[in-house]
This record gives sequence, structure tokens and C-alpha cells, in this order.
Amino acid sequence: MQKLHTLILIFACTFFSQAQDTYLQCGKIIDTKAGKILIEKTIVVSGNKITKIQDGYTTGKKGDTTIDLKGKTVMPGLIDMHVHLEEETNPKKYIQRYTDNEADIAYNSVEFAKTTLMAGFTTVRDLGGSGVNISLKKAISKGRIDGPRVFTAGKALATTGGHADPTNGSKRILIGDPGPKEGVVNSIGDAKKAVRQRYKNGADLIKITATGGVLSVAKSSSNPQFTLEEIKAICETAKDYGFHVAAHAHGDEGMQRAILGGVKTIEHGTLMSEKTMDLMKQHDAYLVPTITAGKEVTEKAAIKNYYPAIIVPKALEIGPKIQNTFSKAYKRGVGIAFGTDAGVYKHGQNAKEFEFMVEAGMPAIEAIQSATTTNAKLLNMQDQLGQIAIGFLADIVAVNDDPTKKISTMENIVFVMKDGKVYKK
Ligand SMILES: [Zn+2]
Repeated sequence: MQKLHTLILIFACTFFSQAQDTYLQCGKIIDTKAGKILIEKTIVVSGNKITKIQDGYTTGKKGDTTIDLKGKTVMPGLIDMHVHLEEETNPKKYIQRYTDNEADIAYNSVEFAKTTLMAGFTTVRDLGGSGVNISLKKAISKGRIDGPRVFTAGKALATTGGHADPTNGSKRILIGDPGPKEGVVNSIGDAKKAVRQRYKNGADLIKITATGGVLSVAKSSSNPQFTLEEIKAICETAKDYGFHVAAHAHGDEGMQRAILGGVKTIEHGTLMSEKTMDLMKQHDAYLVPTITAGKEVTEKAAIKNYYPAIIVPKALEIGPKIQNTFSKAYKRGVGIAFGTDAGVYKHGQNAKEFEFMVEAGMPAIEAIQSATTTNAKLLNMQDQLGQIAIGFLADIVAVNDDPTKKISTMENIVFVMKDGKVYKK
């Protein structure tokens, strides 16, 4: 019996010693929890997890991999809370709604997902598309294609004629009468059904368009588009499924209803009053700034025929105000969750947002924390994402310089690991 035990022990030791580990020798590591920089450490990755963090530069046993990041600054994989992986800005976008099939959208999104991952964003929240984004999420998590870990809203919810009504701007024969299944709600009953439909479809969270928006073919950029009761019904139903609710909002009244109704994040927040900022603090709601998108629509509106004519005045009214609102909200103490609205501008440029945040008065380290620890918490992944810590998922990226001294270095990600696998070196 004793002999058998010894034999099993020897066998087990041989088996485990064959599992390969990766040793990342890091010149600097950003400790996102403490908000400070650690010097000369080695991160040990086993499988898809961080298992050790050692002082100095260490190496493993024979067969383990060592990666030299001694001249780099290393940090947890970045999280963007507002992307649209199904689409990307281009002047033909409004025609493509009538020409592209779901398969066309899917093939395009494969490239957008990969570009996003290579830019250091290992996790994203997709805030709305046709529903192809749910299939995309599945394909990435099965390892069929390369992309970030996706938390998706599927199709966003709107009211009739609202910002995310899928048939806005169509001729009458194509307008039809979309309902909760297509993400259009006009009553409390519709609201509950639309949320339950998203659950059935495989979404992870709910997005609503609480006010008008810039890029929809409709007149107002900022009018309130849901009643308080409808938003409450959405948020209460969402809770039953463990979903949080994100609200697109430019106008102040719609924003207030969204916060009082129970949403967790306000997207854009452009015309936010000080009263609403205080309301956000009281209700522990977060602002997702999307400054990059504001700058992009301002720039593109100046190009003739880039957008349909009805969009141009809205883009010029809203676009230039977003950065200033972010600055005021941050200084007033509103929680900030990093998010960019990628797709409204070209995918892969998500990190530009860091520069715009710093330019508006947020210290670089806080901007990085908003894209790591804050967003991990909002996604209920605070024990797995957003930190380089033992037991966390091995989502790790690196840049050439120290971003607390030179924030633009975030736009040049030189190393990407997701779930323990190296994608860029
Ligand atoms: Zn968006």
C-alpha cells in the first residue's frame, strides 16, 4: 500500500512539473489597486491565471517560457465600457443598413475585434448592434477568432422613433412597426418583454437610449425618449437576470429619469447639469465619457456628405461639448468609467481617450484605474479582472514608456496577453 502511494506521488509530481509556466520579467508594473508603480518584478502565469508575483527577475524550470519586459511598463488588460464591434464609421454606413446581410456584418466584426485586442483592450462592453455581437462574443470565447472578452447588450432598447429604433429614416414601406423583440418599447409591458427577450437571445446586460442621439436619422439629439416608469420597469426586470443597465443620454431630463430609474452608467452625458452630477453621486451611477467619439463626429461633420444632412447640426452641437462635461463631472466627484464609443471612430484607437481625459484634468493614474479596476467592478469581475494580482485572470499588456509621465504611450501597446495566451509580443 505504502509503495502504491509513493508511486502515485511520483506520477503526480512528474505530471504537474510538465505544465509550462510563463515568466514575465517586468521593469515596471502599474498596481491599479493602490495607484502606484512597482519596480522590477516577475509575474508568473500558469494556465490562464496569475499565480505568483516575485521580486526581481526570476526564471522557471526547464520548459517554462521567459518574456523580457524589463524596459516596459506592464499593466492589467484594458477595459473599454462602450464599443460597437459590429460597425465602423464610413460615409456609406447609412446605405449599408439596406445592403449588408448579417453574415457581412459578422465578417467585418472579426477584424474589428482583433484590432481592439491588439490595441490592448482585452475586455469590452458592446453597447449595441444587430445581435451579431452575441455570436461574435461566443466565437471569441470559444477561441475561434481573436478578440477581447465581450460583455454585450445585443440590440439596444429604444422607443418608437428613438435613437436606437432600427427603422429610423427608412421609407414608409420599410418602417414597419418594430416591437420589443426588435428592441422597441412603448409601455411597461413592452419594457419587461424586451429585457426578457435580450436574456433569451444571450445578452449580458441592457442598453437603453434614454435621449435622442447624434448619429440616428432623427431630429433631436437630446430629447427625453422614455418615461420614468418605463425605465424603472427595464431596470427592475434586468435585475432579475443579473443584468445592469447602461443609458445613452445627451439631454439632462432624460439623464435624470435614467438615474432615478436605476441605470448604472450614463453614456456621453453631454448636457449634464450640476444637479444631475449630484444625483449620479447619490445613486452611485458612473459616467462613461466617450470624448473620442465627440471629437470624431465634430471633425467628420465638417466633411461634405460624410453624414446625412439631418445629422450635421446635431454633431456640431453635441460633439464639441463632451470633453468639457467630462471635466466638470470628474471635478465634482462623479465616478468615471473609461469608455470610448469605438465604431463611431476607427477601432483600435481606443487609447486616445486617455490623452483626452488627462488633457481635461484627470491624473493619468486615475484614467488607467478607470479603465481597469473601476470597469472590472462595474462588470462584476473585480476578483478576476483589472489588476495584476495573484489568482486574477492573466490579461496583461505593456507599453514602452511610463504612462504616468507620458500618457500618449498608451496608444502604442507592445505586448498583449489575454487569458494567459500571448497575442502580441
Ligand atoms: Zn455608442
